[in-house]
Amino acid sequence: MAGTYKRAVFVGPRQIRFEELPIPQPGSHQALVRVRACALCTWEQRSYTGEEPFYPLASGHEVAGELVSLGHPVYTDAQPGDRVVVSLLTRCGCCESCRRGLDNLCDNARQRSCEPGSVAGPAGLAEYVLVEDSQLYKASHEVAFESLCLAEPLACAIRSVRKASVRPGDVAVVVGAGMMGLLHLMLLKRAGAKVIVSEPDADRAAFACRMGADAMIDPRHTPFVEAVRDLSDGRGADVVFCTASVAHVVEEAVESVAKGGRVVVFASIHPRGTRISVDPNLFHNKEIVLTGTLGQGREDVRQAVRMIADRLVNLSPLISLVLPLERLEEGLQAALQMSTYRVVIMP
Ligand SMILES: [Zn+2]
Ligand SMILES: [Zn+2]
Repeated sequence: MAGTYKRAVFVGPRQIRFEELPIPQPGSHQALVRVRACALCTWEQRSYTGEEPFYPLASGHEVAGELVSLGHPVYTDAQPGDRVVVSLLTRCGCCESCRRGLDNLCDNARQRSCEPGSVAGPAGLAEYVLVEDSQLYKASHEVAFESLCLAEPLACAIRSVRKASVRPGDVAVVVGAGMMGLLHLMLLKRAGAKVIVSEPDADRAAFACRMGADAMIDPRHTPFVEAVRDLSDGRGADVVFCTASVAHVVEEAVESVAKGGRVVVFASIHPRGTRISVDPNLFHNKEIVLTGTLGQGREDVRQAVRMIADRLVNLSPLISLVLPLERLEEGLQAALQMSTYRVVIMP
C-alpha cells in the first residue's frame, strides 16, 4: 500500500507534533491496522502534562481498528476488513515474567530505543499502526470502534477483580469513581457483589449511583473505615479496590476489610515513593491479603474483547467525548477534567 499516514508524537510537556510517514508493509508475523479509535488513558495524560516526561513518545495504547493487510507467514483468525482490538503493550514472550504467566509484567515492556532522540511508544494515536500478529484480537462488526478501544482498560479491571477472588454476596468497596472505578463497579455487579463506592466528587458520585452502586461513601464527611463497617453489618468489606492514586487510601482499605479480606492496589500511588503505615498484626490476626495489579495479560485482553463483542457490558456511558486526530490537544485537555471519563480519538 503506497502513500503516507499521520502520527502524533509527544515531544515535550503540552507539545505535540504531527508526523507524516510512509505507510509500512507488514512483514512476517505482522499486520497493518487502520486505527479507527484510540482512547486517552492516564498514561497519555501524564505524558502530555509532563508528569511522565519521556520524549519523544508516540503515544496511544487503547486501540481498535480495521485490519488492512497481513504479512506472511502470520498466525491470526482475523482477515483484512475485520474489526480488531490491538493490544499494544509489549510482551516479549521470552523473559522470566512472561514465561511465568505474568506477561503484564514483561521485563522488556516499554523498553526504549537506545538511540537518543528516536521515537518510541505504542503509537496508537495515528492513522495506521504496524503490529505483531500476537497483538491482534478479532472483534465483532456489530460493535462500535469507540467501545472496542476500551478493551484495554476493561482488561485491567478484569485482572484486578479476578485477583481479588470475588464471590457472589461479597461486600466490595471501590475507592474512586473515575473511569477505572466504574469499570470495577460494572464487573463486580456482574459477579454478584454488593458494591459500595467511595468518591468525594458529587457529580462522579451521582454518576456511580446511576451506574448501579448499591451504596456510596463521601469520604469528606464520613470516616471511611466506620462507613464501610456500617454498610457491612460491622464485619468490614470482603474486598477493597484502590483506584485512587492516594497513599492513605491503602492504609484505610487495610483497616476496613473483614477477616480473610483482600485489598487490591489498582492505581499507581503518587507521588511515587510515598510510604504507608499499617499494623502488621492485622495480617496475622485477620489473614488479610494486600496485593496489587498492573495492566493486563493476554488472557485478560481476550476476556475483555469477548465481553465487549458479545455485549456483556455497555461501555458507551463512559465515552465522554469523541474527536478527530487533529483535535488531539483539545481531547487531552478535556481528559484532564474531573467530569470526563474517556475521550476517544478517531483518526
Ligand atoms: Zn490504558
Ligand atoms: Zn517478557
